[in-house]
Amino acid sequence: MKYSVIIPVFNEEANIGMLYRRMAGVLEVLSPSFELIFINDGSRDNTLALVKELAQSDKRVRFINLSRNFGHQIAVSAGLDACKGNRVVIIDADLQDPPELILEMDARMNDGFQVVYARRRKRKGESVVKLWTARIFYRILANIASIDIPLDTGDFRIMDRKVVDVLKSMPEQNKFLRGQISWIGFKQTFVEYDRSERQGGQTGYTYAKMFRFALDGITSFSDAPLRLASWMGFVVSGVAFIALVYALYGKFILHESEPGWASVIVSILFLGGIQLISLGFIGEYLSRISSNVKNRPLYVVAESNVENPDE
Ligand code: UDP
Ligand code: MG
Repeated sequence: MKYSVIIPVFNEEANIGMLYRRMAGVLEVLSPSFELIFINDGSRDNTLALVKELAQSDKRVRFINLSRNFGHQIAVSAGLDACKGNRVVIIDADLQDPPELILEMDARMNDGFQVVYARRRKRKGESVVKLWTARIFYRILANIASIDIPLDTGDFRIMDRKVVDVLKSMPEQNKFLRGQISWIGFKQTFVEYDRSERQGGQTGYTYAKMFRFALDGITSFSDAPLRLASWMGFVVSGVAFIALVYALYGKFILHESEPGWASVIVSILFLGGIQLISLGFIGEYLSRISSNVKNRPLYVVAESNVENPDE
């Protein structure tokens, strides 16, 4: 059994050494044959040099240096395209995902599963805002998504080659890998763990990146926002119709009419708001359609020591 480990790295110079040692320790227990694939996602620190040094001294280390920062999901996709193992692990470089857990996850694979993901019981060292936005996001997504996407789960997981091949054939540009993997199906299960804090360095996931990622998840796996827009349209039209009937009734039956300045302003604002929201949702989907229609390559490799990445 050959193992591939995909490690996206963005400004991780403080963590590479320790990660490599712990990772190698774990994998040597599992199999004599493995590859560690580091994808350098446009780091501005010493990350690339450190990874190249490792690749020099250990033939099992591979690297892919992207030409700029493409974002975590795309860096992982580049690793998926290049990996050759029968079992493929995705893991963060900052040691928030403990490499030792891979042993437990792999044991579950041997029980006949094709995907084993790691589910966070606790999350240490994250800001309150991040914890709550993540919590709320995963719960909303679970409610509106057309498939079951597991709660409180990142990309830390181990997958069978079959799953990886399907994943590689899914062409969408706005990657939400954990959703795509759920969509693929097969037998999936999880192990639980307490997520520790980042070992060194700082998070590369800004709130802007998290927001884009959340929108990618929602628009990739749910049409609820589009439907919400039309439902709001119906409700508002209904309210407007009732108001019209009421106004006519007041004028012709009760013979009393207000100079309805306030109500006019309120309804204009209300309608304007709803229209803007609806347009916004349509825009979200349209922008994704347009980026898929453009069909650009997902990433650009500047240099790599992976031979024939397409084989
Ligand atoms: N990462 C990346 N590109 C980015 C941001 C992050 O490749 O634009 C990598 C990062 O090096 C790490 C993983 O993705 O290995 C998770 O990122 P991070 O720990 O910053 O996210 P957090 O744990 O704070 O959500
Ligand atoms: Mg992290």
